[in-house]
Amino acid sequence: RNAGLGSWPERRRRMSPERPALWFDGGTTTHEQFADRVRRVAGGLSRLGVRRDDRVAWFGANHPAALETLYACGQLGAIWVPVNARFTASEARYVLEHSGASLVVHGKGHGAVAAQLRTTTTIPTWVAAEPDGTDSLPYEEILADPEARDEPVTLDDPCLIMYTSGTTGRPKGAVLTHGNMTWACLNQILGFDFAQDERTLALAPLFHIGGLNGTVNPTLLRGGSVVIVRAFDPASILATIEEQRITSFFAVPTMLDAMARDPGFTSRDLSSLRTVAAAGAPLPMHTLRTWLDRGLTVQQAYGMTETAPAGTVLDSADAIAHVGSAGRPQFFTDVRVVRTDGTETAPDEIGEVVLQGPNVMAGYWREPERSAEVLVDGWYHSGDAGSVDADGFLTIRDRYRDMYISGGENVYPAEVESALRDLPSVAEAAVVGVADETWGEVGRAFVVLTDGADPDAAQLRAALRERLAGFKVPRDFSFVPELPKTATGKIRKAELREDGHR
Ligand code: ATP
Ligand code: MG
Repeated sequence: RNAGLGSWPERRRRMSPERPALWFDGGTTTHEQFADRVRRVAGGLSRLGVRRDDRVAWFGANHPAALETLYACGQLGAIWVPVNARFTASEARYVLEHSGASLVVHGKGHGAVAAQLRTTTTIPTWVAAEPDGTDSLPYEEILADPEARDEPVTLDDPCLIMYTSGTTGRPKGAVLTHGNMTWACLNQILGFDFAQDERTLALAPLFHIGGLNGTVNPTLLRGGSVVIVRAFDPASILATIEEQRITSFFAVPTMLDAMARDPGFTSRDLSSLRTVAAAGAPLPMHTLRTWLDRGLTVQQAYGMTETAPAGTVLDSADAIAHVGSAGRPQFFTDVRVVRTDGTETAPDEIGEVVLQGPNVMAGYWREPERSAEVLVDGWYHSGDAGSVDADGFLTIRDRYRDMYISGGENVYPAEVESALRDLPSVAEAAVVGVADETWGEVGRAFVVLTDGADPDAAQLRAALRERLAGFKVPRDFSFVPELPKTATGKIRKAELREDGHR
């Protein structure tokens, strides 16, 4: 018997066959039809030689085939490997070769990169999810076989290898088991109160954990429906929320910022939105307030690929009273903040956030040393700095890697960025520490100005000085047209640090 994620579509078919499951490109798929599609994809993959533990890659923008191949792999005991759709051929090759993928399903628009990779890798089988004029096998043609496959998959078997966002360097392949997926999705259902009539929006990439498990998989498990959009475009996302009566979605803060700056943010009817899950990067107070002032509920959460991603969540009832907090531990997960000697911090004292629970990954794929570094006595060490208040609410400060020490004082760039973001002339900001002979390190701010604002460093410095201690105020300001970002919209600090040293 299959006890894993691959069994979910059939179980859902049994419970609520006629309810909508997916909406994409104007068409609706019911849970019954979704279960049928997944079964056929499993049959097709099986006939192409995919067996238990084989790795099947998905390389594309958001598309139903991403979810179909994930669940189909779950039925075969195969391991799904999503690849960042923005990767170049050489970046994708690293993930495909490191994971040892034997088959790749690629989306439309990825045909050219796929064609390039076909000649430079030894991967034998390439399938195109949509007709795109390449030599890849057409997806629809491999779906002839409606026979059910029911491999005896256990909760301890690997379900997918999800590569981390690569914000701090080369992505690491987190091995997430069927149990990790199950408990992580249950955490999300409990933490965000997903209902059977949930209608969520897949706007963040499904190849990242927030896009996949933030709201999408939990909603499918719960029996709700998912509206899939191919790419993030603020204006059309806001239109879709209105037209599709979307009840929830997951987004990273930069996406929420971009949506708030679009005219549709005020003109569109967003009254169907029950909650917005915000996580993945520090959430500036300004961004949060803009959404709350619009009368919308934003639940800040905290998590990572390695915990699939559920760590903490702010209950919707606490959204105002504990504004800025990432909330309390999710139901099945324990979260602590510890000092370097491993002891628990006092209330409000800053330390490293560590997490334990059935959603914590088995380890990094083929990287035992890196796995042992972060998984210590069953606790995942996040590398994130945070503090817990007397009531148990977690506040994330920043990554320790991004923290810098100026004149002996710790500076968490997220706090400075949030203060900058509060200023009317600042659209986006990122702060990094750069070496300094006198202070050890000093801050350097990269600022994207709002339209028409003057690049006036002295004025920004003075405005910050009113809110922050002197050692936190960046010494240098660079005015830039845009910031380097990952596919999920996270700022690539490593790139800025290199710039800062030039
Ligand atoms: P890589 O590990 O490859 O450098 P990444 O850490 O960005 O990339 P993810 O697993 O997608 O990859 O992101 C998890 C990280 O995102 C967390 O460790 C944390 O640093 C950050 N994060 C998540 N939620 C929050 C939050 N609410 N506030 C601040 N930071 C957050
Ligand atoms: Mg990380």
